Amino acid sequence: MSDIIIGIDLGTTNSEVAIVENGKVTVISEAGKKILPSFVGIDDKGEILVGETARNQYLIYPERTIKSIKRLMGQDAQVVMAGHHYTPQEISAIILKRLKTIAEQYVGQAISKAVITVPAYFSDAQRQATHEAGQIAGLDVVRMINEPTAAALVYGASQGEAKRMLVYDLGGGTFDVSVVNVQDGVVEVLSSHGDNHLGGDDFDQQIINHIQDHIREQHGMDISEHSKAMARITRAAENAKLVLSDEPYAQIEEEYLLEHEGAPIHLTLELARSDYEEMIDDYINATMDAVHIALKGAKLTVSDIDEIILVGGSTRTPCIRERLLDEFGFEPHGEVDPDLCVAMGAATQAAMINGQQIDTVLVDVTPYTYGTSAMGYLDGEPYPYQFVPVIHKNSVLPARKSEAFMTFQDGQREVRVSIYQGEDPDALNNIEIGEFMIEDLRDVPAGNIITLTLDLDLNGMLHVSAREKATGLEKSITINNAISRFETEALSHAKQRIDGLFGQKAGDETFSKPDSAAVAEARKLIKKAESLFETVSAEDKEDMVDLIETIASGIEDGDDNALQEPVARLNDIIYYLES
Ligand code: AMP
Repeated sequence: MSDIIIGIDLGTTNSEVAIVENGKVTVISEAGKKILPSFVGIDDKGEILVGETARNQYLIYPERTIKSIKRLMGQDAQVVMAGHHYTPQEISAIILKRLKTIAEQYVGQAISKAVITVPAYFSDAQRQATHEAGQIAGLDVVRMINEPTAAALVYGASQGEAKRMLVYDLGGGTFDVSVVNVQDGVVEVLSSHGDNHLGGDDFDQQIINHIQDHIREQHGMDISEHSKAMARITRAAENAKLVLSDEPYAQIEEEYLLEHEGAPIHLTLELARSDYEEMIDDYINATMDAVHIALKGAKLTVSDIDEIILVGGSTRTPCIRERLLDEFGFEPHGEVDPDLCVAMGAATQAAMINGQQIDTVLVDVTPYTYGTSAMGYLDGEPYPYQFVPVIHKNSVLPARKSEAFMTFQDGQREVRVSIYQGEDPDALNNIEIGEFMIEDLRDVPAGNIITLTLDLDLNGMLHVSAREKATGLEKSITINNAISRFETEALSHAKQRIDGLFGQKAGDETFSKPDSAAVAEARKLIKKAESLFETVSAEDKEDMVDLIETIASGIEDGDDNALQEPVARLNDIIYYLES
């Protein structure tokens, strides 16, 4: 076999290494972690630290730790770490060397070749610096590919029909959006735009500011000078952000954060997703502006885009997906882990160079959106059945998402929860797959918060629970076969539509009503009459046929009363014929 070629995503915040083995792309983990934070440091004993350990010491010993070195690649700059000067290439090489070792430990042999990804906007100097970093790390960089190209490769760009994809990549510290054209397995970046200083770290900073304001209000002190407390707050802020990607509220709790005037300060704060979304709204708007600039750069419009690919950990933020859905009218792809997608693409490219067979990266995703209905707006008008998606189409399974809702009326003691599958903004145009009531709510003014949680497992079982936030009162149901049920119902809908085209009554066969006693009796009589046709005179047969026709139209109209007279007359004729 030819030499192993590893694929590396050398990111600003995080880096990963992947390989293709037996046709499958594997992102290699070390101690259970696939993500290596792009931090390099020197500890108090002079030992080199890479990844998590370096990241952990960053806030306390910034003079001994380097982060985001990618931003300096290609510049004639140096960084100082523990009193020594390093070039950006050298720091990047330390990260690459670590990734190389992780891969070598995994495969059990020496590795000397790599494909490394770089941002589409990287200049020649920046690419050259990345190449040099590879060399310093003992790696022959057989190819450098653009990050959006790598992402497109994972999403099947090398197979199938021509299409245009928008790659929306929001990581920890950078944002890039690219428009790519895919044809005959060739990925071409048509345009790229972004912001080198926009990402999840900015979102964290908003939460950090919010916590600092809270402590200032509560305790009258500024904690920005207390580096240990700030380190804890920074970590707590990021954790809260991650929780808010799945839940409507996050509890921020840090006991004994620091001492103030002889008393300990404990931090207890609740952050609502809606407040957090307001904090980051300007950033999201900026990314959307960049999307339009990239489209313009490619001389395309929203309607020219066939698929959207989400890359970068920050794209797990639900409002990003929602904004893209609003803007483009279809769900973006996120089924491949957005943190690992670029490394997987690098490995895919490496395997292509090596002539290895690669299976498509298949993951289980939900093919439908699941949500509920609520009072809202439809076409600008107030509407009681606005569809509110909770688990979006293309989400990786198992998926668990929560949303907060509020009671609508003062003293409202119960809420009817309806669960729908579908994508239509009008819930009534989607398919209702379950319904339940949550009762005995507190007697309080409108605005009582109910948290709805949808939990969809790999077997298509959907567990739904509604919980009154203030009391913990909870009601739940489980909907079996949530995924296949839809298929059955969708089939019956399709059948109704097609039947309609042929003038047949919708659902005639699937859901016909059982016969009434009168109709059952009439059908029996018709059969009996028809069995006598061969033995009766032409005159009697004519009378019988007339009566049968009258009875048949009575059955079709569902009018039992109209059956009485012709049935009695047909009975008489049969009685007379048989006697
Ligand atoms: P990347 O540079 O692509 O690895 O992305 C890292 C960024 O993604 C960091 O700012 C993380 O805090 C952020 N991130 C990771 N997971 C989530 C999540 N579930 N929700 C929101 N942001 C996330």
